[in-house]
Amino acid sequence: MEKKTILAVKNLEKIYKKNGSQQTTAIKDLNLEVKEGEIFGLLGPNGAGKSTFINILAGLVLKTSGEVNVWGFDIDKNPRQVRASIGIVPQELNLDPFFNPRKLLELQAGLYGVKKKDRITDTILKMVSLDNQAESYSRGLSGGMKRRLMIAKALVHQPPIVILDEPTAGVDVELRKNLWKNVKLLNKNGVSIILTTHYLHEAEEMCDRIGIINKGKLVALDTTKNLLGRIQRKKITFKLSGEINIVDEELETLKVLSSNYNEMIFSYEKEKLNIGQIINYINDKNVNIIDMSTDDGDLEDVFVTLTNS
Ligand code: ADP
Repeated sequence: MEKKTILAVKNLEKIYKKNGSQQTTAIKDLNLEVKEGEIFGLLGPNGAGKSTFINILAGLVLKTSGEVNVWGFDIDKNPRQVRASIGIVPQELNLDPFFNPRKLLELQAGLYGVKKKDRITDTILKMVSLDNQAESYSRGLSGGMKRRLMIAKALVHQPPIVILDEPTAGVDVELRKNLWKNVKLLNKNGVSIILTTHYLHEAEEMCDRIGIINKGKLVALDTTKNLLGRIQRKKITFKLSGEINIVDEELETLKVLSSNYNEMIFSYEKEKLNIGQIINYINDKNVNIIDMSTDDGDLEDVFVTLTNS
């Protein structure tokens, strides 16, 4: 069965007008679709337009032109339904330190007009593992708990789509893993996820599909697997019995990345050269190979290629 399109963006443009004639085009002719059940990542360097995009979806920034449709609702014609369909987890922690998690969620539910009998506060608290802290002041919660509480706040009106803006910016590794686990759990429970990030590893780990934006323009849109498949160069490291001199491209596509006495790191195009050819080439230089390791490229290679303009 064809999956429902939960987000459709057509020819989206945002121009910020500053004083006088100065203006910045933050989003330029952006087109993309996200399907139900996906974890979709919008990836881009600082200033690419990610926050602007999220703020348009959240109704906080008005687009200049183009169409945005969320869960079947047009953002211009049905802004309230759009708002009801998404839960936004903002970047900054904005929690009132004197409320406990239960109270915060109840207040948030009130803000969204969720009737008392329809509230699922306890279910949400359990889901983000804060049921034991339900009555603790939020100022006493750990960093990880606060982040989870932010996710919980976005869930009070049971939105089918959750948007996370740079969910793990400035968060340590342990906490990041924990958050990823929570987001994946949410997704398993049927919630579609859209997240922005400038951490390549986060996108690689979390997302089914990735859109890469640079200077407001979409420069790639594909499955994570396909994007990784675009990487053409591999790395290979050798420990040798002695020092040798190698000239770039003497062997087709082979380049020296670093050379530190007898440890040499090369890159090569995996379609044009295989490891056997490289080993033979080095053996011909009258040194022994003591150790060797290879390294597949990661999303960073794709990212650098696409955003280096
Ligand atoms: P990102 O979230 O990817 O870092 P942003 O959406 O914050 O990117 O910014 C995209 C571009 O729009 C940048 O050039 C930024 O300076 C500009 N911009 C963002 N917000 C405003 C604003 N309120 N007024 C003017 N320019 C802005």
